[in-house]
Amino acid sequence: MNTVRVNVDLSRCQGHNRCLDLAPDLFADDELGYASAIGDGEVCPDQEHEAQLAVLNCPEHAIEITR
Ligand code: SF4
Repeated sequence: MNTVRVNVDLSRCQGHNRCLDLAPDLFADDELGYASAIGDGEVCPDQEHEAQLAVLNCPEHAIEITR
């Protein structure tokens, strides 16, 4: 089975932090509020719904899911 990961495109991220609210186990913010994936971005199977919510609710379309 392919590993699912999330990634934040920092050139798009504007620091709304919706992703942190929806998927606090997958994203963290830096001191300026910009988001990044925690660790290597790996998404456990039971976190895939959260990852999808983050993608759908990011106003900047900055989050992608790779498999
Ligand atoms: S919701 Fe999107 S734009 Fe906002 S902090 Fe998360 S990745 Fe960045």
